[in-house]
This record gives sequence, structure tokens and C-alpha cells, in this order.
Amino acid sequence: MSEQPQAAKEGQPAARRRSSPRAPGQVIACGWCGQDVPVPARGRVPKWCSAACRHRAWEQARAAASGRSAVEVRDRVVERVKTVTVVQHHTREVPVAWRPTSVPDFVDVLEDLTTRVDSGRVYDRDIPTLAAAVKATVKALARREKAAHRPLW
Ligand SMILES: [Zn+2]
Repeated sequence: MSEQPQAAKEGQPAARRRSSPRAPGQVIACGWCGQDVPVPARGRVPKWCSAACRHRAWEQARAAASGRSAVEVRDRVVERVKTVTVVQHHTREVPVAWRPTSVPDFVDVLEDLTTRVDSGRVYDRDIPTLAAAVKATVKALARREKAAHRPLW
């Protein structure tokens, strides 16, 4: 007589707490006949498929209490639906307008332009525009030298 009449514990869950809804469409085996019993989304998990099985189990439990037999309902797994919000962080590269701000950066840009002009990677039609801009820069450099009253370059 090692088995205890578990059926006597019906309706006494280990912990009463608000829980997530169960996965739909689940069935559980009847504690008496083993037939599938639909599991509702919420509420108590059924132990019996019918009143008849519940009654037979109750009779067995009562008999067990008198030491003659026992019925055992094992713990059964009921799947639950858990809603999880997942925030996905996407990082993508976007072009950012870049301008030289330091002398080395300006030198890099001017050297790159010189190489492009020399290697034909600048259209002829764009040469006048570039030349005007470069001449303006050279004139500005000359003005600085004149203001300094000494050779700067
Ligand atoms: Zn049954």
C-alpha cells in the first residue's frame, strides 16, 4: 500500500495564482479511463472525461481510504501561451555628408582631386568649375601672404 488516493486532492492546486492562458486544442488523459479530455483555456484542468469516470474514481478513492484499493492521478503537463514582446534593434549604415575640417583632411581632399584630374576621372566640362574654385583658393592664400608681409608659401 504505497499509493495514496490522489483523487481526494481534486480541486486543490499547489499554488493559486493568476497565470497565462493555455495553448489551445490541448487534451489530457482522463484520470480514470485515459480517454482524451479537452483542456479549457482557463480554469481548472479537468481530471475526468465524464461524471461517470469521476464517480468511479471517487468510489475508488473512498475504497482506498478504507485500505482496499487506490486510484492515482499523476501530475500532467499543460502547455501555456506566453506573450513575449521582443524589441529588435536594427542598425544600418546611412551616408553622412563629410567635409574636411582639419588641414590634413583638406590636403587629402586636394591631393585626391589632383589625382582624379591627372587620371582623367574628372570630365572636361567640369574643369572650368573646378579651376574657378581652385583659383579662388589660391587667391585667398595670396591675400594671406600679402597681409602677413612675409613669404608664407
Ligand atoms: Zn474517463
